[in-house]
Amino acid sequence: MNIMKFGGTSVGSPERIKSVATLINDGEPKIVVLSAMSGTTNSLLEIGNYLYKNEIQAASDSIAGLKLKYLMVVSELYSKQTTINKATLFLEDVFTTIQSLVNGAFYPLQEKLLVAQGEIISTHLMHFYLEDIGVENTLISALDFMRIDKDEEPDYFYIRQNLQRELAKANVKPLVITQGFICRNAYGEIDNLKRGGSDYSAALVGAAVLADEIQIWTDIDGIHNNDPRYVEGTKPLRQMSFDEAAELAYFGAKILHPSSIQPAKKENIPVRLKNTLKPSDEGTLITQNSNVEGIKAIAAKDGITSINIKSTNMLLAYGFMKKVFEVFESWKTPIDMVATSEVALSITIDNAKNLDGIVNDLEKCGTINIHKDLSIVCIVGDFSADSAGIAAKVLDALKEIPLKLISYGGSEHNISVLINQKDKKDALIALSKHLF
Ligand code: ADP
Ligand code: ASP
Ligand code: MG
Repeated sequence: MNIMKFGGTSVGSPERIKSVATLINDGEPKIVVLSAMSGTTNSLLEIGNYLYKNEIQAASDSIAGLKLKYLMVVSELYSKQTTINKATLFLEDVFTTIQSLVNGAFYPLQEKLLVAQGEIISTHLMHFYLEDIGVENTLISALDFMRIDKDEEPDYFYIRQNLQRELAKANVKPLVITQGFICRNAYGEIDNLKRGGSDYSAALVGAAVLADEIQIWTDIDGIHNNDPRYVEGTKPLRQMSFDEAAELAYFGAKILHPSSIQPAKKENIPVRLKNTLKPSDEGTLITQNSNVEGIKAIAAKDGITSINIKSTNMLLAYGFMKKVFEVFESWKTPIDMVATSEVALSITIDNAKNLDGIVNDLEKCGTINIHKDLSIVCIVGDFSADSAGIAAKVLDALKEIPLKLISYGGSEHNISVLINQKDKKDALIALSKHLF
């Protein structure tokens, strides 16, 4: 069985929903994971922001605008009056839920319920459309099986058990539709897998059912060798390894959610990226091993903060790094890059939510310096066989850009450099020019 995940653009209009319906209706059993229609998650978050600020009128206007948009989708999508009635009733229900948030207290819990409606709507619209054209299918709610634990990590055991139960109920119908992105947390509350999380949902579903393949259908023909939002003339890669794809996703390639490769790698399930707009394009296949050596692709992650800790007695001291790392552990803040010298340690983080507390604790270890608005540029490939000259090529390409930190050798798949965010585009273009 395959998992087919379709992103926001892929289900972004009545026409696109119809195209996806054609792609998934091939008689083969499959689980289809859908994102919200493009723009919806942003609109819902905007409504949430108005509600946090108690801007009731602005929130109500946005809600009305969103509802109108969906009523138009319904009027264009379905041909049978019974389906139109059913979908309209469903939307009335959803928007009553959304409207009910306007007058009550608004906290993160309510925001999670609000933002979940995007995927709830898109999956229902698809389910009704398939019914409308006479295609048997079952809609199962991700809220009945997708779950994260207290550390916001997926609860693999729970997901597998509960998904199996839901699928057993849907036994007769080979086409199963469910929501990406949304889940429940350890307390049973509605939560989500963070922005772009539908990829992660698809991978978790794939791992839970030991799928043959996890397919991520999006608006581009696979993973490109550089970020097409900043660099012209990027090219798709036909194949990469789990490790290479995971590095790219983690370091900013928006096409994949940062954690989405982990579940696939864990169960050794191939991940295929395909273009919904051009289904015959080959796309990118991600498997255990990589076929080609050398530099493959470049990605960049913004919003990085660097923390430099200077210790007067680090020279020949042991236990210093342990103390520093324990501070990050206690604040549950992952570290991305590390560089050491005899007397100092530089660390980068992308989640600066607890920066004040971290700095406060680190001051016991030495003198602290903080730099913000940085980017990590990550060069990914297979450097296991012949790594001679690879780092030199990268540094030569970046000779005009001030480098804050360099990391090489931690894995055979990654060279990372830290730069000012404002230099990112120039760095990506320079790397493309010199490396490809
Ligand atoms: P979806 O809504 O289908 O999840 P996303 O917008 O999340 O789609 O991801 C696809 C987008 O990722 C592409 O349109 C492209 O602009 C961007 N992107 C960034 N880096 C890359 C890359 N290395 N290869 C391909 N696409 C990339
Ligand atoms: N709809 C969610 C988002 O926009 C999840 C996703 O598209 O993957 O972030
Ligand atoms: Mg995405």
